Amino acid sequence: MTSLDTRQKLAILADAAKYDASCASSGTVKRDSRGGNGVGSTESMGICHAYAPDGRCISLLKILLTNSCIFDCHYCINRKSSNVRRARFTTDEVVQVTLAFYKRNYIEGLFLSSGIIRSSNYTMEQLVEVARSLREDHDFRGYIHLKTIPDADPGLVRLAGLHADRVSINVELPTQDGLTRLAPEKDSGRIEGAMRDMKGAIEDGCDARRKYRSAPKFAPAGQSTQMIVGADAANDRDIVRRASHLYDRFSLRRVYYSAFSPIPSPSAVLPLKRPPLMREHRLYQSDWLMRFYGFKPSEVASATDDLGMLPLDIDPKLAWALKFRESFPVDVNRAPRELLLRVPGFGTKAVNRIISSRRWRKLGLDDISRLTLSVAKVRPFIITTDWRPTLLTDCADLRSLVAPKAEQLDLFAS
Ligand code: SF4
Repeated sequence: MTSLDTRQKLAILADAAKYDASCASSGTVKRDSRGGNGVGSTESMGICHAYAPDGRCISLLKILLTNSCIFDCHYCINRKSSNVRRARFTTDEVVQVTLAFYKRNYIEGLFLSSGIIRSSNYTMEQLVEVARSLREDHDFRGYIHLKTIPDADPGLVRLAGLHADRVSINVELPTQDGLTRLAPEKDSGRIEGAMRDMKGAIEDGCDARRKYRSAPKFAPAGQSTQMIVGADAANDRDIVRRASHLYDRFSLRRVYYSAFSPIPSPSAVLPLKRPPLMREHRLYQSDWLMRFYGFKPSEVASATDDLGMLPLDIDPKLAWALKFRESFPVDVNRAPRELLLRVPGFGTKAVNRIISSRRWRKLGLDDISRLTLSVAKVRPFIITTDWRPTLLTDCADLRSLVAPKAEQLDLFAS
């Protein structure tokens, strides 16, 4: 490896980290100011945006310790057989770069991951050392998200939680078949074992804090994971079931979905095309249905088509409502919160406002139109004092009436 300066390493290792979605730069438009032109890039040179546990959007330095790896996961640009330029930071270099960026107010924290060098334990030791040094040697109070290595010694993984706010372990692919085919050195049993250990350690940490206020915080922002979508044959139904299993068993804060994106010099076993980005978006929406709208995984799965895929042109909640029309219309003046949350077009805020408003007076369609973006989408599914959909809920072409109108594609879109 030729000798690289810190800036060159940063360019390589920030670029290599961008494929990891488990600290999401969600909602940003790609503006690229590399080359010294322009101000306000949201994407380049390792700065990404994530959401802190209190809902704040924070800027993180998102880098790898190294993009060298002894594993050969087919979907990964950093795999052993990939022909990419390699670089490696020392732990002290990561500490110094993080502090320098932090002091200049570029970032509010660090997201650190790594390819596996020498062994899982050695790599984990290096990651933990960065976090330890930042916290103990430099009294760093910023946010730290550490990616942990499932095969590493559980004691080391626990140390990560002592210094990091959030830890994550990627399940990578939704099924063991996919993992066997595309990441032969990984095993879903070992990955889940590491998640189970981490869940136990987080719960122990919370118990200790309840008993002793001076007990150290342990991964206060919990653990998360990432699943790659579209690299293997798993359909949306498989992915929803897998995500629900992970939430239930390991109390994950988030499952991130990352649409597979073709990499330079791809392995022959990978698909040639990326899945539509809308598929990733629909999976995030289904995730919200389970976490905030009271849908069971089986209900979300029942919104999929015969191939187990969620429709791309309408959101999963609308797809479910169109399939299960016997659950509608819902009377907004009488229905419990759980049923209101099932109405397509009602978000949690709208439902809260309906519930607090109806304590004072009966609600009509005009009241509802002020609470939603599109009353046309909501009308077939609700009853108000002055509106009852009668035959509309069951009409054969309801889908075309409530589905968003298709937009003309931009000829010059990237
Ligand atoms: S272990 Fe991680 S870095 Fe290494 S090839 Fe697999 S996904 Fe890539």
